Amino acid sequence: MSTLFLSDLHLDPARPEITALFESFLAGEARKAEAVYLLGDLFEAFIGDDDDGEIATQVAAATRALSESGVPVYFMRGNRDFLVGPAYAERAGWTLLPDPAVVLLRGEPTLLMHGDLLCLEDKAYQAFRKQVRDPAWQAAFLSQPLEARRAFAAQARAASAAAQSGREESIGDVSPKEVERVMNLYGVRRLIHGHTHRPAMHTVALNSGYGQRIVLGDWYEQGSVLHASSDGFALNRLG
Ligand code: MN
Repeated sequence: MSTLFLSDLHLDPARPEITALFESFLAGEARKAEAVYLLGDLFEAFIGDDDDGEIATQVAAATRALSESGVPVYFMRGNRDFLVGPAYAERAGWTLLPDPAVVLLRGEPTLLMHGDLLCLEDKAYQAFRKQVRDPAWQAAFLSQPLEARRAFAAQARAASAAAQSGREESIGDVSPKEVERVMNLYGVRRLIHGHTHRPAMHTVALNSGYGQRIVLGDWYEQGSVLHASSDGFALNRLG
């Protein structure tokens, strides 16, 4: 049996084929998994647990069906869906994980992160992150009517689409020193994260010897799933 890790699906009404690919994954190979971990940026935008939009509704039903079939589903917030709260998690059948989180994977402590916390070079983003993770900012945002929040998200998306001229968001890479620091701090030999859209397996020199950093792929053009089983780790493409 495999434990499956995914991140950066960036589900969006503009890419219905990716939502369909995710739904067929949930109804198919995910049913045979030991557990499924969603490590953030599942959604391109998330405006609050009360979101009654098509994608939020479809995804909650599909992951809930997986969890009700007996496969635990874990979710960690990303920089796009940081507003996911306990009410939506309940609706979707998820157990929420903090970022970072240490889990036991095949008996080995493994550090899970979305990955944005590792990108320390991007000072503007880190300042933005601090602002939007502030409980007072979040409470003020969430107190606005759903329609106002929806308009705000659409505007932010239009601004970012214009800036990228329709191209995939360009994200800086992780800071190698920060990777070593957190892995040493948590005493792990393995780190799994997403966010940078640079799927790969890297060797990292740690205080305790060599470790491994596995980066999950995004779902802009196809699916990407990390399989962890007794055979080891494999990054597979879907679709
Ligand atoms: Mn991200």
